[in-house]
Amino acid sequence: MSSFEKLGLSEPVLKVLEEMGFETPTAIQEQSIPQLLTADRDFIGLAQTGTGKTAAFGIPLIELVDPAHKATQALVVAPTRELGQQIGEQLNKYGKYMDKVNILCVYGGASIETQMKALKKNVQHIIVATPGRLIDLVNRKAINLEEVNAVVLDEADEMLNMGFKEDIDKILSYTPEHKLTWLFSATMPSEIRRIVKTYMEDPIEVKIDQEQTVNKNIEHQYVRVKAKDKGEALARFLDAYPDMRGVVFCRTRRDTQNVAEMLLKKKYRADALHGELSQAQRDRVMRRFKSFDIQVLIATDVA
Ligand code: AMP
Repeated sequence: MSSFEKLGLSEPVLKVLEEMGFETPTAIQEQSIPQLLTADRDFIGLAQTGTGKTAAFGIPLIELVDPAHKATQALVVAPTRELGQQIGEQLNKYGKYMDKVNILCVYGGASIETQMKALKKNVQHIIVATPGRLIDLVNRKAINLEEVNAVVLDEADEMLNMGFKEDIDKILSYTPEHKLTWLFSATMPSEIRRIVKTYMEDPIEVKIDQEQTVNKNIEHQYVRVKAKDKGEALARFLDAYPDMRGVVFCRTRRDTQNVAEMLLKKKYRADALHGELSQAQRDRVMRRFKSFDIQVLIATDVA
């Protein structure tokens, strides 16, 4: 029996996981999946990106939804469009061999009319959303959350950092009192504790160390250079690994633009990605990066 089978997953999901090459569950998956499938309790997962947390809540979510019931049954709230889209993509994969579960991602910066059309056309069993657009769509009566029985708050600390505190309160007030709330966060500041205290009941809490991330084989190296030599050092590194694709993280939008411009001048295939680009621009950069048209993405943590 594969170790995923021991977690109590259905055949259609096991088949997908095998196809995706997932052999063993990560720590957060091992600890969350059986609980979320059966325990009927609120859940706090202290885990960051790279621990496999999306599957940890995404798989149970897709297993719990009833495709025959024509209502929005689950809601995932995430801080950015990019994360929302990734979650949506993963959910669609896990549901590949099941009866069709409709999943829709809604986020700001894209046409609200298109999203309203999609909501009108089909019942969306699972909605993945960024906070502002979700509230907008609920206010326009395009989304009804009254039959939701599971809410996932992903990267909750990040949502608070981005100023979505009131939005989260509002969103939770739109959902029924009796539902499951699953909260994922890398850290547990007091404001998250307040959310837990106010909205969650007797939650199970699981904490995953950073060492448990999927990409254990990442090696960390650093070089100390003078600020003025940084560009040259980066260029030399890219010359040494011409087939490698990578992301350079910068603190500010301006830094990403400066670095990208510097690399472009030197004829490297680079582009910047930050929160002040329009959705269309962000999508275009991501598409070019995925297709290897861009070798290095210069990004703020929006990436
Ligand atoms: P996440 O932490 O959800 O962002 O996931 C990080 C990456 O790990 C994603 O690309 C997943 O597809 C991958 N992943 C998640 N769970 C597993 C697993 N059990 N085995 C191998 N890869 C996984």
